[in-house]
Amino acid sequence: MILNREWHEKNRMPKNPTLQQKIEWHREHAKNCKCRSIPAKLLEKIKN
Ligand SMILES: [Zn+2]
Repeated sequence: MILNREWHEKNRMPKNPTLQQKIEWHREHAKNCKCRSIPAKLLEKIKN
């Protein structure tokens, strides 16, 4: 498990994120950190 702590400190998920915010957060997250993968449901929405 690789956690990019620095990135997480700078990129906190908003408390009540919109779908768009979640997608953007996970896209950036995937580029910068590997601690968790994008949920399948969200991944479907990114592709569409
Ligand atoms: Zn992470």
